[in-house]
Amino acid sequence: MSDSSRPNLWRRLPLWQKILGGLALGVLAGALMGESASMFKPLGDIFINAIKMLIVPLVFSTLVVGITSMRDPQKMGRIGGKTIALYLLTTAFAIAIGMLASSIFQPGAGFEFNFDKAMETKDAPSLVQILVDLVPSNPIDALANGNIMQIIVFAIGIGISLIMIGDKGEPVVRVFDSFAEVMYKLTEFVMAFAPFGVFGLMAHVSGNYGLDVLLPLAKVIGVAYLASIVHVLVVYSGLLATLGKLNPVRYLRGIVDALVVAFSSASSSGTLPISIRCAQKNLGVSEGVSGFVLPVGATINMDGTAIYQGVVALYIAQMTGIELSMMDYGMIVLTGTLASIGTAGVPGAGLIMLSIVLSQVGLPLEAIAVIAGIDRILDMARTTVNVAGDLMVTTLVGKSENELDLEVYNATQPKKDA
Ligand code: ASP
Repeated sequence: MSDSSRPNLWRRLPLWQKILGGLALGVLAGALMGESASMFKPLGDIFINAIKMLIVPLVFSTLVVGITSMRDPQKMGRIGGKTIALYLLTTAFAIAIGMLASSIFQPGAGFEFNFDKAMETKDAPSLVQILVDLVPSNPIDALANGNIMQIIVFAIGIGISLIMIGDKGEPVVRVFDSFAEVMYKLTEFVMAFAPFGVFGLMAHVSGNYGLDVLLPLAKVIGVAYLASIVHVLVVYSGLLATLGKLNPVRYLRGIVDALVVAFSSASSSGTLPISIRCAQKNLGVSEGVSGFVLPVGATINMDGTAIYQGVVALYIAQMTGIELSMMDYGMIVLTGTLASIGTAGVPGAGLIMLSIVLSQVGLPLEAIAVIAGIDRILDMARTTVNVAGDLMVTTLVGKSENELDLEVYNATQPKKDA
């Protein structure tokens, strides 16, 4: 029997272990092969394309099904309020932790700064414009362009309308229900390819960032990673344990797949299908809550990006010898929170938004060029935290609304993998 079961070792390994294996082997391949490890990048690109393929239909169908299954539009409003409040709260914590870490470890002290290079900058969008842009003038256009916030608004509208027309909406509800199931199955297929995709992505990154690029900035990288780990382990675990009365270890265990994909892809929007799957299968969050809270989070909740802005703003101040006042610190928290909300969940977006924070407190925008060369390495950490934050808030909101299956959450093994 043992002989015949040997070829099945791969099958028997839980998915998260395979994905972690892909990550480790990718790093190793990059370290050994250098830039030629980029030959594996197409594996990563296929994987990223495949998960992007899932996003729009998955979010749309899950959300419509979720809302209709809750049968209570008021509940949606309450969930929305809690979600936004928790997202803002954790983001403010994040930026404060980033600034604290930079103040303690002083990564920019003694660094020679060169003002030569210019960087692209961006203005913060106005609040009114953000609100106006929430409503799609053409839902097909929103779906085609993958505008998640507009898709959410449209799906909520459809979901609530379906509840209100009762039996007449039943055929449509069943179509969405069945379509959502199809999307879950497709997600499972795509996830089966995750170990290879993650391997390809990591081989490329690790082969292209040699120590010569990383070492001069090792201190700021170290501080950003440390602040990120502290934020997840202290703030997220603390909130889960105190507000949610939930065991944080189960949460961390349940979200490994999403964290590894976030880390290797540096895109929280791209990770969305995996986050939805982790929330439902491993944490036991309902379709309604996960289908709403996660897509909103992937669009507006960027705690990792906020940490990064706190760390880097102070790093640049230290590097250039610019003294910051208490007002400036307050301003960094405020603009950092807003900038992180405006950051798209795609690779490198946080770097562009950093210019908003720097310009508000009079720090030189050109300094962004210093860290641009290693931004991918920082991006991997901040995206991982962004995704962990979305999943933490989803869990808490699910628990508070009785939309969390505690049996699944507390199970020692995640529900069976693909
Ligand atoms: N890459 C990040 C994300 O997708 C955003 C950022 O660049 O900060 O969450």
